[in-house]
Amino acid sequence: MKDYDKEVLREDGYTVELSNEGDLKKHNPNFYNPNKETVPCVAEWEHEKTSNTWKQISCKRMTKSPFCVCSNHKSLKNYPLHEKDWLGRVILPGKTREECRTWALPHHYITRLLVGWIGKDANRSEMVDLFIDEIIGKLHTKIPDATTLQKIFEGKSQGMHPDEFVKITKELTDAYFPEDKFGGVLLDGKRIKFKKMILGNVPIRVIASSMVLALGCEESNRGDARGCLLNGLEPRYANIFMPLGLYLLRRKGASESEARISIRG
Ligand SMILES: [Zn+2]
Repeated sequence: MKDYDKEVLREDGYTVELSNEGDLKKHNPNFYNPNKETVPCVAEWEHEKTSNTWKQISCKRMTKSPFCVCSNHKSLKNYPLHEKDWLGRVILPGKTREECRTWALPHHYITRLLVGWIGKDANRSEMVDLFIDEIIGKLHTKIPDATTLQKIFEGKSQGMHPDEFVKITKELTDAYFPEDKFGGVLLDGKRIKFKKMILGNVPIRVIASSMVLALGCEESNRGDARGCLLNGLEPRYANIFMPLGLYLLRRKGASESEARISIRG
């Protein structure tokens, strides 16, 4: 399967890219049977109680479930894995792509930096809220799930191409954080360490574009929003709303721990 690595932005030694080379492939719940015909269960993973491990299976038990899984395999973890894991990679100053291949900032760090920058400033607050609203509007139920996104990239399916996702990310970053005004504005990421590498003083445009990519990749990697919409079913997973929840909770005064625990439900 083809690798995808495309540059979104380069500033002050940092490079932001959209990539499909993540190493945490999520389960793919995008199997639909909206007319409730009799179909074989698609489950490929099962929890083994005695050893407390997940083992690979092939269920195929017949079911009429609209989500193509039998009554024993209704959990997300029973589904087959996506073909790819998409991520918004940051290549740190002085590092190579190889060294940062899976270095994508976790949602809570991106949110910490953006919410910290807003502080109590009403203009910034309004501006970032509009930025987030527009990301949701452009991506929710529009970006396909991780496997379909890969198929579109390889010319085997129709819908939003990863190049289009890159274009949207660039446009939203430039619209809300234009280079002539925000180029050179740095956020303090000296205490942010991920996979043994420190973020450092990072341009706000790197964080803004990482926010767009993080929200879109979450919708795609977990994603059943678009598939459910197309099949007249209600999504069962949080999709883009998990990272959105983190942002909103922090904006309403929750600490990072309070917000993360709340999101876990
Ligand atoms: Zn089953």
